[in-house]
Amino acid sequence: ESGSLKYQRILLKLSGEAMAGEQKFGLCPKTVRAVAREIKDVWELQIQIGVVIGGGNIFRGVAASAQEMDRAQADYMGMLATVINSLALQDALEKEGVPARVMSAISMRQVAEPYIRRRAIRHMEKGRVAIFAAGTGNPFFTTDTAAALRATEIGAQALLKGTKVDGVYDRDPLMDPEAEKYERLEYLDVVQRGLKVMDTTAVTMALEQHLPIIVFKLMEPGNMKRLVQGEKIGTVVEG
Ligand code: UDP
Repeated sequence: ESGSLKYQRILLKLSGEAMAGEQKFGLCPKTVRAVAREIKDVWELQIQIGVVIGGGNIFRGVAASAQEMDRAQADYMGMLATVINSLALQDALEKEGVPARVMSAISMRQVAEPYIRRRAIRHMEKGRVAIFAAGTGNPFFTTDTAAALRATEIGAQALLKGTKVDGVYDRDPLMDPEAEKYERLEYLDVVQRGLKVMDTTAVTMALEQHLPIIVFKLMEPGNMKRLVQGEKIGTVVEG
C-alpha cells in the first residue's frame, strides 16, 4: 500500500484546544479518543508519525504574563500543560491499539522519556507514534515552533497542522461566510499578510528547511488519512 502514499513520515501538530472539544477548556475524553482514531487511520497505512500538542486548553503563557505573571514562569507552566495533553493522547492511542511513546523536552523521567532525536526516529521506525511533549523546552517559544523544529529533526516530509477549519482563508471563515480559502500559499505570503497559520518563528523555520506545512481540518473523519494518500485537502504552505 505504501506505493500510493504521499509521505512516509509526518509530524502532526495539534493545538491544545483540539483536546478540549466543545468546552474549549481542559480535556474532553470523547474528543481525545476521536483524535486518537484519526491518528490510528494514518498509522495503519504504516506511515511514521510524530505528534506535537499544544497546551492552550490548560494554560497559555502569554495570557498569564499579560496578567502580571512572570513570562518565563508562565511559559514553563504552559509547557507542563502540553505534557498533560501528551499523556492523555498516549493513553487514548494505546487503548486503540496504537503503541505510543511520550518524549519530553523537559526531563521528567517518571512520566515520559527524555527527548533524544535518534531514539525518537527509532520509535517511529518500530511503528510507535512519538509524542513530543513540553514544546521546545524553552520559554518564549510556542508549540508551533516546536512542531517545525521536531519535524525538521526527525526528517518529516510534511508538517500537518490540524485545525478547526479546512484550510487557510483570507478572512476568518467562522465569522465571515464570504471568506475564501487558499489552496496554496508561499511561506512569505503567510508572514507578509499576517495569516494565522503558525507563528512567524515556525513559518520561517519551515521556509529555511523547505518543510511544507499543510493546514487541514482535523475533526472530519478520514480527512488526515485522505491527505496522506495524496488527496488535495486543506491549504499547502510551501516555497
Ligand atoms: N510553551 C513554551 N515553549 C515552547 C512551547 C510552549 O514556553 O517551546 C508554552 C507557552 O507558554 C505556550 C504554552 O506553552 O503559551 C502552550 O503552548 P501553545 O500556546 O503553543 O499551545 P496551543 O496554542 O497550540 O494550544
